[in-house]
Amino acid sequence: GTADLDCDVLVLGAGPGGYSAAFRAADLGLKVVLVERYATLGGVCLNVGCIPSKALLHVAAVMDEVSHFEALGVSFGKPVVNIEKLRAHKDKVVGKLTGGLAAMAKIRKVTTVRGYGSFVGANHVQVEETTGDGQEKTGKTQTIAFKNCIIAAGSQAVRLPFMPQDPRVVDSTGALNLQSVPKRMLVLGGGIIGLEMGTVYSTLGARLDVVEMLDGLMLGADRDLVKVWQKLNAPRFDNIMLKTKTVGARATAAGIEVTFASAGEGGSAPAPQTYDLVLQAVGRSPNGKKIGAEKAGVAVSDRGFIPVDIQMRTNVPHIFAIGDIVGQPMLAHKAVHEAHVAAEVIAGELQGNRELASTAFNARVIPSVAYTDPEVAWVGLTEDQARAEGIKVRKGLFPWTASGRAIANGRDEGFTKLLFDDSPEAHGHGRILGGGIVGTHAGDMIGEIALAIEMGADAVDIGKTIHPHPTLGESIGMAAEVAHGSCTDLP
Ligand code: FAD
Repeated sequence: GTADLDCDVLVLGAGPGGYSAAFRAADLGLKVVLVERYATLGGVCLNVGCIPSKALLHVAAVMDEVSHFEALGVSFGKPVVNIEKLRAHKDKVVGKLTGGLAAMAKIRKVTTVRGYGSFVGANHVQVEETTGDGQEKTGKTQTIAFKNCIIAAGSQAVRLPFMPQDPRVVDSTGALNLQSVPKRMLVLGGGIIGLEMGTVYSTLGARLDVVEMLDGLMLGADRDLVKVWQKLNAPRFDNIMLKTKTVGARATAAGIEVTFASAGEGGSAPAPQTYDLVLQAVGRSPNGKKIGAEKAGVAVSDRGFIPVDIQMRTNVPHIFAIGDIVGQPMLAHKAVHEAHVAAEVIAGELQGNRELASTAFNARVIPSVAYTDPEVAWVGLTEDQARAEGIKVRKGLFPWTASGRAIANGRDEGFTKLLFDDSPEAHGHGRILGGGIVGTHAGDMIGEIALAIEMGADAVDIGKTIHPHPTLGESIGMAAEVAHGSCTDLP
């Protein structure tokens, strides 16, 4: 059929994956159409994810920090929180960034189309115009023809089927909306998103419970790191319920009454509890089944993921997919790197540039960060994984009680840990395989360890790299020296 618009690349969804793909494709000279159902670009990350959560977490971290200052000889009054103003601050941060994206799209001559896109064939997407929050449709549609497509339709929060429809039950988007501070809050799910939002509410005055089906919080992170986090954060919680399932909930005048059951051996089955706010943070599910993929012949897994190869290509050679919709880890920085690969492969193929066309996603590692207080950051192999996989590792651990800067900051609870290959073939010069940091600013430092892993650095490379003194980043060099066996003199 005829199309209203045509392009070299149609990008479906304008999150970190989608806008990065669109911008890179445009920079490489392609004609790009970017389809997004929301009014603003930026997807989950900018609008209701990474950025607004960090705006609130920063405020919470400063509040927590100064609350300990009396012992240092400086006291502030009890904080007075104006929730409307705080929410407005967060919205302004988001607005600045999404506005910046819109301007960048314009400069690059990326055509943005507002609406809900679905495939109607292998080379056509139909877009139904949306308004408001992106759910309402105006009834207007247009068909866009493409040579290539990049699916970047992301994911959405999982809702437990038995949760009542009630303003006191929210997902992360609702929690970020920050209407009031509850007295008692249940965080359902002990992952990063739940614990970050729990941190914000707890600093603002809420008492927290957390319930997690599996046997630990922040699973995926090295247990040693989490132990430090948990010890410092214990005062925020009334109950940390591990190996516990949430099996029912009902709305009452007093609050949301939630019932629990044991999730396997060693689990607990606490009595029902009533909460003023329940945050569902039990994971995110990909949007693969909501875009008419079958009309384009694109394969989608039962769970809604779209399988791709290392060039981000789906089973249909001219259609690519990136970001949360292709699988774990569901992180913005992964989406951005996948986006660049897809855009470059397409440009390379359309322009007959073999080198560009052979680009592939081959990151060795993808770092993770919980922006809690203290922060927990990790990348590559953990000690548990090494043990499970029978990989022999040499450990370099540097406690921040020996870091001049951490002590000066009054925040020496953290540590930096590096793991090096200690297999016989490595002859004592094994490469770095993983690392983790717990402590203030851990997230800002983990990139160095990721770089070291990508470069195949060993303990000598890292230990002999001169880090500035006194910094927290120095702890990475020190941990490497510990692993290598040399003693360090600098406190
Ligand atoms: P998304 O950001 O989900 O974007 C997909 C876009 O596609 C959306 O804008 C959606 O409206 C649009 N769309 C979907 N279907 C259609 C359609 N049919 N037609 C038109 N448009 C469509 N990650 C980090 O790395 N660091 C963090 O600190 C972090 N914090 C987070 C905090 C929270 C509270 C949440 C919820 C997530 C957080 N994440 C974080 C995860 C991060 O937001 C995601 O990994 C990232 O946004 C994924 O990018 P994406 O481009 O794949 O998809």
